[in-house]
Amino acid sequence: MKFQALQLIPPLLRAVNECGYETPSPIQEQTIPLVLAGDDVLGCAQTGTGKTAAFALPILQRLSAQKQTGRIRALILTPTRELAIQNYDSFCQYGKYTPLRAGVIFGGVNQASQVEMLRAGVDILVATPGRLNDLIGQGFVHLDGLSVFVLDEADRMLDMGFIHDVKRVLQHLPVRRQTLLFSATMPAEIETLADSILKNPKTVKVDPVTSTVDAIDQCLYFVDKGNKKNLLSELLQKEDVRSALVFTRTKHGADKVVKELGRSGVEAMAIHGNKSQNARQRALEAFKSGEIRVLVATDIAARGIDISELSHVFNYDLPNEPETYIHRIGRTGRAGRGGVAVSFCCIDEMDCLKDIEKLTGLKIPVRESQWPMVILEKTEKAPQQGRSAPRMPRETKAASARPSGGKHTGLSAAEAAVSRGSTGKRSGAGQAAAGQAASGQAAAGQAAAGQKAAAGQTGARRRRSRGGRRHTSAGLPRRESEN
Ligand code: AMP
Repeated sequence: MKFQALQLIPPLLRAVNECGYETPSPIQEQTIPLVLAGDDVLGCAQTGTGKTAAFALPILQRLSAQKQTGRIRALILTPTRELAIQNYDSFCQYGKYTPLRAGVIFGGVNQASQVEMLRAGVDILVATPGRLNDLIGQGFVHLDGLSVFVLDEADRMLDMGFIHDVKRVLQHLPVRRQTLLFSATMPAEIETLADSILKNPKTVKVDPVTSTVDAIDQCLYFVDKGNKKNLLSELLQKEDVRSALVFTRTKHGADKVVKELGRSGVEAMAIHGNKSQNARQRALEAFKSGEIRVLVATDIAARGIDISELSHVFNYDLPNEPETYIHRIGRTGRAGRGGVAVSFCCIDEMDCLKDIEKLTGLKIPVRESQWPMVILEKTEKAPQQGRSAPRMPRETKAASARPSGGKHTGLSAAEAAVSRGSTGKRSGAGQAAAGQAASGQAAAGQAAAGQKAAAGQTGARRRRSRGGRRHTSAGLPRRESEN
């Protein structure tokens, strides 16, 4: 199918063509006609499926057909600053040949330029919930003229504790509106929320979170915690790693990995919630421009980063939530491109691995290294995993290990604009007025273990006590915060 078959108007087709998209992705094919018809939509799709265009294109088309009111007519609520900016950039890009204006607001930066942009007026507003509520409270945002509301990455919104902020926003929306809710997973809370905000929704499901992107080449190393750094630096130097996103469970862990890589001569930068906005942008810019090829991130910070040329994802620490594994590896292999996802698993993470393999229904192929897992006894106090409540500890015995033998270039214009204080741009041509905000365009180790383990629990235990320690135009502009 071609985009023309979706009955999109010429200004949108032209922009899509410029983006180099040849055919609509499945989520686009299914969602665009529904949104154009005015239906509410419940979309189950993960990042990388093209879901942004799936809602942005029909919204731009519907708004283009209405007369301009000078009021906000579409609101896109996203959990993170990065995702907000990305959404904003997408609106700018896809809407560059329409007269619509877009703006973006998010926390963690001075509000002055955002207020200025709101005063100038925008048709489409992309926002994170905290800052949006602040600005609504101060009387700078009026949503009574709204016709479309999009709740993007609803599960992440919930996960990050923004549900009350979302509910507060909902109180300001007109009852008569079109609502689109997108979520990679559909836990019960999201279903309840969907029931309360959607009217006779049409459900669209693509790439359910239980199926990982086929194009991604996944592998797993069983390695002791203290040796992960050695293995990472070896793989980064050995493999054909053009650009790697390394996930750690904690912010402190991310900083440590950067330091350790630095010692072994691999330049890397970290991006996480304890870094200033500027430091995060610098790191992202350096990574996107290719100045550094390794970015170390926590899940929240990495959320929404869209880097199309990402070649590798490393799970330095396995995530607590198996769905997060899928989100992480979805950072590579985007829109059908192949990528490599490498995971490290130490004895404390065996339960996480089991959960991941249960969810995906796949055994991740195991590779061996010169640092096989030799510590087969869990640390007494398992590390805190994730932001959510720690899981109840579960028994993991050595026996549970598998049997042996098992074997965009710098900141976009929009980001730059945002960092200065974004302004909505006139898209129409999607150009932002000069001086105004820029427009965005918008194993076996395990097993190895088997044998070596045999080497003896005692030895392992001993090693562990030592080694363990060593061990616009759419003129539209865009950005996120952990609010
Ligand atoms: P998203 O899931 O919206 O974050 O999109 C993931 C990536 O796919 C982005 O880099 C988009 O630019 C790209 N993309 C979206 N739609 C298409 C398409 N129809 N063809 C090719 N690439 C696309």
